[in-house]
Amino acid sequence: MDYAETIGAHYIDGNWVEDSDHSQNINPSNTADIIGRFARGDAGRVDQAVAAAADAQPGWADASPQIRHDVLEKAGALIMARKDELGRLLAREEGKTLAEAVGETIRAAQIFKFFAGEALRNLGDAVASVRPSVDVMMEREAVGIIGLITPWNFPIAIPAWKIAPALAFGNAVVIKPAELTPACAWELAKILDEAGCPKGIFNLVLGSGSLVGARIAEHPDIDAVSFTGSVPTGRQIGVTCASLGKKVQMEMGGKNPMVVMDDADLDVAIAACVNGAFFSTGQRCTASSRLIVTKGIYDKFVGALTEAADNLVVGDALDRATQIGPVVDEKQLQQNVDYVKLAADEGCDVRGGSIQNGPGFFQKPAVFASATNDMRVSREEIFGPCASVIKADDYDEALHLANDTDFGLSAGICTTSLKYATDFRKKSKAGMVMVNLPTAGVDYHVPFGGRKGSSYGPREQGGYAREFYTIVKTSYISA
Ligand code: ADP
Repeated sequence: MDYAETIGAHYIDGNWVEDSDHSQNINPSNTADIIGRFARGDAGRVDQAVAAAADAQPGWADASPQIRHDVLEKAGALIMARKDELGRLLAREEGKTLAEAVGETIRAAQIFKFFAGEALRNLGDAVASVRPSVDVMMEREAVGIIGLITPWNFPIAIPAWKIAPALAFGNAVVIKPAELTPACAWELAKILDEAGCPKGIFNLVLGSGSLVGARIAEHPDIDAVSFTGSVPTGRQIGVTCASLGKKVQMEMGGKNPMVVMDDADLDVAIAACVNGAFFSTGQRCTASSRLIVTKGIYDKFVGALTEAADNLVVGDALDRATQIGPVVDEKQLQQNVDYVKLAADEGCDVRGGSIQNGPGFFQKPAVFASATNDMRVSREEIFGPCASVIKADDYDEALHLANDTDFGLSAGICTTSLKYATDFRKKSKAGMVMVNLPTAGVDYHVPFGGRKGSSYGPREQGGYAREFYTIVKTSYISA
């Protein structure tokens, strides 16, 4: 699959629609490698897509769930059949390692297949009315047209976990992927076309957040918006949607704590923290960016983590030896470098974090030892391979520090004590809790989402996704 000459078009009403304005898709491992040029649309393109979706959606919602099942099942099978090629494309455009990228592609296929089944399992409820001879039924219907706005860090899995439930329950979709990673979403459009998705039901509009994304939030005929991205953008979209009475679901940042107790198995803790903090170059909203370590194991932990981080192989995402791929672009790299400097200015003992020479945006993982929880580096989401290591006196202080954050997506604890593990699971103010596992890395058949500044609206993924992508109708029937 050579993209160098490809001009990626929008996919609207079953047609490929060209535009005169384009953005270049650059490989962050090698900036000389141009993956392709992709259309940059505007509000007018969104309006076109919404008009097509409005025409097509009622028929799709009325269609037999078997039809929706079959389209999603086939899309899943097509993705799975191309997992290596799509994984390679993903690694090339986003920069995560080939292994992670192929894994993410397989995950996207699994998600489509899961929601194929969910199309058939859209069960309702029935209850006797309090009035004689009256029955009450509660059914879930499609919401209508769903606008999806997605980020660059999971360019195939996040679109998949929004598109698949939207389509399963009879909605039409208008999606705008991140400008840095349009190729995976473009391939998904081709796959849905090949899978027999009727025209107008799935629409892809490429372009900027300020033009295409903003129009999706504002368009009066889009009934619901699901967004994943940064806190400021999410909040802005949330306000717009609320003011227009739209359903909205937002997944935003994290500053996820991993507590390491004195009684932890050190190898387990180091493996969980290295994975959680540095894999995917730290570019996951579930990344472990605050490692909260009790004082008895603190020095040993910092020494072992520094060594493990230093040993990680940073390099080209397509090189099989690479463990940490590049940062996604120059802007993000500069931001990471600024945070490394800030960590030193705030008094951390900084280990690693230097820029690596090469044709891409390479950075060594950074350990911010001797950090405290009130430092900016421990409060702001960095979205890079950087982790604060914060000392706690005991379990109670560690729990307090873990919850002392504006975010609440994922939280973890490494311990061999059932007492601590159970207490942490109950008292953590995060949407997802991990025991002796990295804070990142989730299953696809269970809910994903957080609390506080991390998330807003119903959970994504698994059976819980139905809450956002359907609307309840209560019917009263007199015999
Ligand atoms: P990130 O820092 O991960 O790029 P953003 O929140 O900027 O996070 O981007 C996430 C998604 O939101 C992208 O698809 C982006 O184009 C889109 N986006 C950015 N600004 C806006 C906006 N004002 N309205 C709607 N979507 C936007």
